[in-house]
Amino acid sequence: MSTADLTAELQLQTALLLLKQSGRELNIDAQPGSTPWLQAVVDALCDLSSRDALTGQANRRQFELTITREIDRVARAGEPALVLMADIDHFKRVNDTYGHPAGDQVLRAVAAALQDCVRPMDTVARYGGEEFAIILPNCPTTFGLAVAERIRDKVERRPVKVAPGVDVRVTISIGGAFAPQWVRSSAALWVERADRQLYLAKSEGRNRVCLEHAPVVQVSAEEKGLLFGTSQFQDLE
Ligand code: GH3
Ligand code: MG
Ligand code: MG
Repeated sequence: MSTADLTAELQLQTALLLLKQSGRELNIDAQPGSTPWLQAVVDALCDLSSRDALTGQANRRQFELTITREIDRVARAGEPALVLMADIDHFKRVNDTYGHPAGDQVLRAVAAALQDCVRPMDTVARYGGEEFAIILPNCPTTFGLAVAERIRDKVERRPVKVAPGVDVRVTISIGGAFAPQWVRSSAALWVERADRQLYLAKSEGRNRVCLEHAPVVQVSAEEKGLLFGTSQFQDLE
């Protein structure tokens, strides 16, 4: 075997080991080493690299890819899209009271509750420690609050069993913002607006939803720059 072949074989073995450790099965009845089999390995690795290991939801990297794609779609089609940022309230207390593994269980349960509340086309991502981001493409502005409320309510009503006879109740605060229609925004600006609402929800007492009232039609100078590259469209102000 040449050095190049040996290196490729070692990399393949490493990839297979990674997949095994993550509990993934190759759902394909093909000869190992064949092209369909190798494709299945690549697909499984892509899936692995796009998910958060604890909750199985999209990870931060996948979130960034999805929101960037969504911004392109909004700019092209003008459909309203909503981003929600959801953060577990007083989560540190859960860890302090029940221990870190119980906290992990709560994180998994909250992630599952969020996933249960959304459509298959929506993306639930673990954005950070106990913070989740949800991208809802084609979400009518009149439905935004109802969707976010449904999510908040679901988490509040679903206790998490962390040990026999021990149920933990948590709540989440949610902030949300619609993408400015027909405007090529940046992911960072969009998330920042949703985050500002999340901050409001926290400061107003937690376990609540705050949404920007309507899609932003007034765009910031930075967003205009992203859309047009110049300041020629002054009349948008
Ligand atoms: P707030 O209502 O203001 O959001 O308060 P909080 O306690 O939820 O927020 P804070 O930022 O003080 O604490 C977040 C905690 O989340 C601290 C950190 O240890 C915990 N955390 C982050 N990632 C994980 C994880 O993967 N597993 C567990 N068990 N805990 C985590
Ligand atoms: Mg928190
Ligand atoms: Mg947080």
